[in-house]
Amino acid sequence: MRVLAIFLTVLGALVLAPAAMGDDPISHLMKSAGKLPQAPADTAAPKVQNASAPGVGTKPRGPLPIVMSARIGEHDDRTRLVLELSDPVNLRTFVLANPDRVVIDMPEVSWRIGAPPRPSGFGAIKSYRYGQFRAGNSRMVLDLNQPVSVSDTLVIPPTGGFGYRVVIDLFPSNRARFDAKAGWPADLKKRESDAEKLAAMIAASQAPEREAARRSGKGPGAGKVIVIDPGHGGLDSGTSGVNGLLEKDLVLAEGLRLSKALKARGYVVHMTRSDDTFIPLRQRVAIARADKADLMISLHADSNPDSNVTGLSIYTLSDGRSDREASALAKRENQSDIIAGVDLSGDNNPVAPILIDLAQRDTINKSSRFATTALSRLKPVTDILARSPHRSASLAVLVAPDVPAVLIELGYLSNRSDAAQMNTDAWRARVARAIADAVDAHFAPPTRQARGEP
Ligand SMILES: [Zn+2]
Repeated sequence: MRVLAIFLTVLGALVLAPAAMGDDPISHLMKSAGKLPQAPADTAAPKVQNASAPGVGTKPRGPLPIVMSARIGEHDDRTRLVLELSDPVNLRTFVLANPDRVVIDMPEVSWRIGAPPRPSGFGAIKSYRYGQFRAGNSRMVLDLNQPVSVSDTLVIPPTGGFGYRVVIDLFPSNRARFDAKAGWPADLKKRESDAEKLAAMIAASQAPEREAARRSGKGPGAGKVIVIDPGHGGLDSGTSGVNGLLEKDLVLAEGLRLSKALKARGYVVHMTRSDDTFIPLRQRVAIARADKADLMISLHADSNPDSNVTGLSIYTLSDGRSDREASALAKRENQSDIIAGVDLSGDNNPVAPILIDLAQRDTINKSSRFATTALSRLKPVTDILARSPHRSASLAVLVAPDVPAVLIELGYLSNRSDAAQMNTDAWRARVARAIADAVDAHFAPPTRQARGEP
C-alpha cells in the first residue's frame, strides 16, 4: 500500500511537471526528491512491484524485456540510478560487504545500453557492470566507495516517450548499519549450493557416456574425462581487447572448438559453460570434481599495462609462493566472483589463502607435466611468453585436490598483434589442435624409452 502511495505521489509530480522543466521527468523527479522513499530496502522478502511482470529467476516468455538506458545521478544527499526498460520487471536489491557492493537482480533481460556513462568515481558508486548471471537471471552490480542504504525500488510507468523507469536511490550510511544489512538473501544462498549439488548429480549420471567412449578406443585417451572451463561469462567480461574482443567471448569460442576436437578423439568433454553465462569459481571446481575429471583446462586471455608484452602462458596451482606477476594474475582472475556479486562466505572463498595438502602435491605434479607437454605443442603454432611461460599462482579455479588442472592464458588482449591473431579462425583452429595433441600426448602410454627400457 505504501509503495502504491509513493507511486501515485510520483505520478502526480510527473503530471504537474511544467513543460519548461525540460522533457526529462527524472530531472524533475530529482527536484521533488523530498517525496521519494527513504526507507532502506528490506532484503528478507523480495517485494513484488508488479504482479503481472516477470520476477528474478524467470526467463520471460516471448521477447526479453530490453534495458534501454542506465543513468547515474550524483547529488549531495544521494546517488540515483535510473534504468529504462521496455517492459515492467520485478527487481530485487541487496548489499554485500567486503568489498561493498549493491546487487540488483532481475529476470533475464536484453541489455542494449551501448556505452553507458561512467560514474565520476568520487561519488558513492565507484564502478558498475551488468549482464547475464545465469539462465533467467540478469544482474547489475554497483561497486561502492562508501557504505550506503538502498531505497525501495520505484517503478515509473511510461510517459513522455520513455519506457518503464526503475529508480533506485543510495543514501549515505555508516559501516555498522551497512554491515548489519549486508549478506545474501537466504533463498538465493540456497540456490547457489543447490546449483553445485545439481552439477554433481548431472556428472554422476554421465558415467555410461564415459564407459561408451572408453570402449570406442579412438585414441590414447579415449574415455578420459576432460573439463573445459572457459573463464568469465555473463556480467563478468574479463579483459577487453585493444580491438574490442572480449576475453569471455574469445575463451568460449576457443573452448567450444577444443571440445569438438577432443570429442572427435574419443574424450568425454564437459564444459563448465557453453554459453554467455556467469559461473562462480567454486561451481567450476565442483563440476570438475563431480565429473571426476582426468584433466581440467581453464581458458583465459591476459592483459598487461605494457602493451608490448605478448605470448601464451600456462599456470598451475601454487601454495602462494609465486612471483609478483603471477600473484597479480591470480588476483585478477580470482576477482571473478566479486565482480559478479557471488556469496564469498563459507570455506570455499576464492580470495582466502589456498591451503594445499600432501595428496594434492601429486595432482599438482600431474598438472605441471601437462603444462610442459602443452607448451611444447603450442610453441610451433603461437607466440609464447618470452620469460618463464609456465608459472604457478594461487588460482581459485585450480584448487580441486584430485583433478589435475591448468589455466591457459592464450595471449595478451592488450597487445595489438596478439589480439588480432586471437580474433582469426586460423589461429583458433591451430591452437585448439595443439592443445588436443598435448592432451593425447599426456594420456599416451609411456614409451619404452620413457619407462627406462632400452
Ligand atoms: Zn581471465
